[in-house]
Amino acid sequence: MPTQASLLIKNGYVVTMNPERRIIRDGAVLVEDNKIINVDKTDRIRGHHAETVINAKNMLVMPGLIDTHVHLAQALLRGCADDVALVDWLKNRVWVLQGNFTLEDGRASAKLCMAEMIRTGTTSFVECMIHTRYGFDGIAKAVEEAGMRAALSKIVMDSTGYADNPDIMYPGMVEEKEASLKEADSMFAKWRGKSDGRIQIWYGLRSLGAVSTDLFKEVVQRSKAHGMRMTMHLGEVLDDVRYAKQKNYPNLTSFAKDMGLLGPSIVFAHGVHLDDADLKNLAETKSNVSHCPASNMKLASGFARIPEMLRLGVPVSLGCDGGPSNNTYDMIREMRLAALMHKSVQNNPTVVSAEEVLEMATIGGAVALGLETKIGSLESGKLADLILVDMRDIGLTPACNPVSNLVYAASGKCVDTVVVNGSLLMKRKHLLTLNEAEIMDEANERQTELLSRAGVRIETKWPVG
Ligand SMILES: [Zn+2]
Repeated sequence: MPTQASLLIKNGYVVTMNPERRIIRDGAVLVEDNKIINVDKTDRIRGHHAETVINAKNMLVMPGLIDTHVHLAQALLRGCADDVALVDWLKNRVWVLQGNFTLEDGRASAKLCMAEMIRTGTTSFVECMIHTRYGFDGIAKAVEEAGMRAALSKIVMDSTGYADNPDIMYPGMVEEKEASLKEADSMFAKWRGKSDGRIQIWYGLRSLGAVSTDLFKEVVQRSKAHGMRMTMHLGEVLDDVRYAKQKNYPNLTSFAKDMGLLGPSIVFAHGVHLDDADLKNLAETKSNVSHCPASNMKLASGFARIPEMLRLGVPVSLGCDGGPSNNTYDMIREMRLAALMHKSVQNNPTVVSAEEVLEMATIGGAVALGLETKIGSLESGKLADLILVDMRDIGLTPACNPVSNLVYAASGKCVDTVVVNGSLLMKRKHLLTLNEAEIMDEANERQTELLSRAGVRIETKWPVG
């Protein structure tokens, strides 16, 4: 991995995301080893003789983006489940395809996903559920080689339902309770603190209906004992609410509270179907919500109550979800959607500003990862996870407010350079740790093979000659 003893990024428009949200025109960031040691005006840092110097003229210099809800395995499913209803999407496409994965598919999909994330400015992510058949070890090795910072969550489950629908899971997606717990614990023991501390291992609770109340309680207890964090989809579909009601709970968070799930060490993905008491419970316990606007719109899941959550103090971050539900892992485009959708839903253009969305994608993500003292902003002493975004672009001109241009007008294609833990992963739009051409060729071949192995045909709506 391209690492240098010192790195100076100078002459940029530095969006620090520090507690004062200081922005520095003609600013610089000085990195030594894996840490930021100074953030200031370029002329105040001049005199330092860094081993590598990058001129960031016309660029935003900002914390790396943090995607808190990613399915690495779904990158290989891009385009395989468009414009279909949710049950069809899950039962006849996504589960069938993922349930036919080989270990090599799992590794190839993870590399494809990470190449896209790095190219579009994501430096850290939460992978929410790794099935044994995707090859946890191979994926962790791929993260180590790619150089990203990641929380990798091992699926834990003990039944075959999905919310209030019993026994509907595709056989290839089912795991046994003891085996799933054992693999989570062995991967934790193996990878804890490896890759310079870039990799965390979490529990990925499969979903309501696939985890019994006993298993929920057991995982919570293990999570506390080992210091392992947890993530789970919550309230993405109304079926989740029906599940809680069948169990005699008035809402989803009263069920989650009884299981011991609420608190700062869990990330709930989606959080769409939540009532007033739910929002209060999440705020009081500082339980994290990963907001996934593209996925919620594409699958018509509904609209998460993000403006209310922000007002109440629920920790909110952003997630791209997966290849069949988004269909990109581009956090800059996700920020744009998050900033737009709530205005339309609430008929009020003042809810959720560009600045609030940028907070979700940076410092909010750091909170979700439990790393807010280490990443999420550009401050002396923090780890050097940062990106340069090229704003010298016809679509980003003129530039009276670069933060507005970033959220409302840019895309991941504008990202120029990516640094994680002090190492350059992309420089001047060239990936340094992953071979993009090889990854694309392999992904195309593997998707074709996977579709045929799974017996899934993707019909194009128009004739292809
Ligand atoms: Zn998801």
